[in-house]
Amino acid sequence: MSAVAWDVSDDRAQYSAAQQLHARHQRLWWVMWAPGARRFFAFYQGDAEIEPLRDTTPDGLDAQIRHTQVTIARTHPSAHWRCPVLGCTWVSVNPAVHTPCPVPR
Ligand SMILES: [Zn+2]
Repeated sequence: MSAVAWDVSDDRAQYSAAQQLHARHQRLWWVMWAPGARRFFAFYQGDAEIEPLRDTTPDGLDAQIRHTQVTIARTHPSAHWRCPVLGCTWVSVNPAVHTPCPVPR
């Protein structure tokens, strides 16, 4: 096996994709790109025992996160906090002050 010269810049696209996913899901998930494993990982930050999710593509991981959240909402109804303001879509691990309340457009 030949040595693989690896450099951070080789994975720029993956890091940036992981960053975008992280920003999208940061209230409930920690998303990262693992260069050694060649996979994206998502760690659930809420109050439920969830195995880390992994996928080779950001879209695949995004789909897994969404699917897992639906499952968590059903199996662990109190695993995360939802803002009581009508129409607010805020969801987080702990109650969080946020202004203004994000509402779906
Ligand atoms: Zn709110």
